[in-house]
Amino acid sequence: MIMKKNILLRTNLLVCAVIVLGFAVSSVISYWSNQGIFLKDVENVSSLTSEGIYYQIESIFTRPVNVSLTMANDNLLKEFLADEEANLRNPSYVETLRDYLNVYRAKYGYDSVFLVSTRTGRYYHFNGLDRVLTPGNLENEWYYAFLKSGAEHSLNIDNDEAARNEITVFINCRITGRDGSTRGVVGVGFRIDHLQTLLDDYEKKFGVAAYLVGEDGNVEVSTERTGYKAVNLFRTPAFAALKARILNDSDGRQMFWYPAEGGDRYLVTQYLPNLHWHLVVENDTRGLTRKLNVQFYRNVLVIVVILVCVLLTITRVIRSYNAQIIRLTRAVEERERKHRAVFQEATEQLYENIYELDITHNRTASEATERYFESLGAALGTPYDECLCIVAGKQIKEEFRQGYLDTFSRENVLRAYREGRNSLQYDLMISSDGGGTYYWIRISTHIFHWDEDDSIRMLVYRQNIDAQKRRERSLFDQMRRDSLTGLCNKAATQEDIRRLLQREPGGTFAFFILDVDKFKDVNDTLGHGAGDAVLVEFARTLRGQFREDDVVGRIGGDEFVAFCRLPGREAARKKAAELVAALRRDVRAEAGTCSITASIGVALSPESGREFETLYRNADRALYRTKEKGRNGFTLHGDARATPE
Ligand code: GH3
Ligand code: MG
Repeated sequence: MIMKKNILLRTNLLVCAVIVLGFAVSSVISYWSNQGIFLKDVENVSSLTSEGIYYQIESIFTRPVNVSLTMANDNLLKEFLADEEANLRNPSYVETLRDYLNVYRAKYGYDSVFLVSTRTGRYYHFNGLDRVLTPGNLENEWYYAFLKSGAEHSLNIDNDEAARNEITVFINCRITGRDGSTRGVVGVGFRIDHLQTLLDDYEKKFGVAAYLVGEDGNVEVSTERTGYKAVNLFRTPAFAALKARILNDSDGRQMFWYPAEGGDRYLVTQYLPNLHWHLVVENDTRGLTRKLNVQFYRNVLVIVVILVCVLLTITRVIRSYNAQIIRLTRAVEERERKHRAVFQEATEQLYENIYELDITHNRTASEATERYFESLGAALGTPYDECLCIVAGKQIKEEFRQGYLDTFSRENVLRAYREGRNSLQYDLMISSDGGGTYYWIRISTHIFHWDEDDSIRMLVYRQNIDAQKRRERSLFDQMRRDSLTGLCNKAATQEDIRRLLQREPGGTFAFFILDVDKFKDVNDTLGHGAGDAVLVEFARTLRGQFREDDVVGRIGGDEFVAFCRLPGREAARKKAAELVAALRRDVRAEAGTCSITASIGVALSPESGREFETLYRNADRALYRTKEKGRNGFTLHGDARATPE
């Protein structure tokens, strides 16, 4: 479960990292590609704003100048001025002039329309004669300055410091007589209260700052300040350095970037000839930065939303996938468990124990194995080869011990594995009650390579085969036995004698062949059944004359063999005589009575032969001699005489 959580966490982190990295890369790329466009945008916006403001301001002055010029060239006015002196005290003269001026004022909505007569200094306006101008008065300075300038018209600005946001513009036009002399000055006056609004509109619309700056550097109009309080633009450090460039715009528009606090700024300045002011439009990259920031934060928001959706989806998918895997694993485990239970039950029926050994490291490889060795007195951690000897000594029947040790020694197991054999088997008799009773078991092993610690290991299966072995043994015994007498049959007799001869080459043995005398007669007179009974009795008596490990068998109808260790000829003779005596008896049956005797031929090993065939042949010859001599006796091969009783 922890592993699965780690996978989930790792997957989510990886996806986060990929998305965030992708976002960062695309942000950097878009920043670099957008920056150039944005800078160009700043330049264009500033330039167009400057142009727009310029033309709007120019248009404010165009008409009043034209109207003033029209009046200045009006012959009617010129005639008025010519007639002035004659009508100095004529009220209708003044009235006519007043009406004339008033018509213009009303028509164009000016605040004032005025006429000054050069000759008399009289100042007429829409209410009639207002005053007489005299030199020396500061208020009239504009008039004398204009007369002196020689210009056709001029513009006079009264930036009223008392009325915020309001300037009054006076247009003065020269009226010249035929001789070119100045006869008067005519003009209009009007308040402009929307210059600031004009700038404000542009500032808001295009995100710039715009000022109208006088030639002396004082800010005349800005959205923050008007000329009511003289603020010199060039006193601010940033602008001080730019003074020359800004004031140098009389010939045309000046545009340039300059470094300032908070990023580069772009400046467009243009000279307004009518006002003798400079229009300064300033744009900075703060807007750009703001735009980029807004875009960045918007992107971040989008990415966060995407990230959350993706993570939720991944988490859900992985969780449901995990749940499915767990379900499947459980189903598989359950199936395996059932299968294992069935398998274990079957195995347990088949095998007594299953042990596991690490042959390479000479140690046990399972708890059950450890427990088993411990139960035999081996201390925990006893090496495998020592445990093997303990098992052999404590549990295994002596005759199987060496075979057991040889088969399952480390050397033999490793050799078998090297030779490509991955199984070993050995049948043996074992005791679990300390040698009281033994039973057959089959030890089968499976040898394999264990990758985890690069060792050769061996699984040991113990199978109880006692019943099977006993069945086999009884079948084998049955095969070896003569069914009538229970003695060894001919083949078994032959085999047993051969084995004894082989085991002890040169040993002294006696080979007896015994034949019932005139047995045919028994059959004939007493019947076949009685004949059988005679044979059974004969066999029982014969068996009784020998030790357990001597060989006694029936090799023909009434022919028997006995084979035993005897020290010499005399002993053989003695034994043969005893046999003849023991086997002699009378048999009574319903049909009558019969006397049974036996003839014996004896061959001694090694002098009469070292092999079965030779001994058999020589003993048979001796038997033949006994028969010849009249039966009921024995002959020792190599003896010339028979030995009758
Ligand atoms: P001799 O003294 O020369 O041995 O005479 P004999 O009559 O015993 O002759 P032989 O040994 O040649 O005869 C053996 C007889 O044993 C022949 C056969 O009918 C009989 N016989 C063989 N097997 C059996 C058997 O299983 N049961 C019975 N009742 N008779 C058998
Ligand atoms: Mg016979």
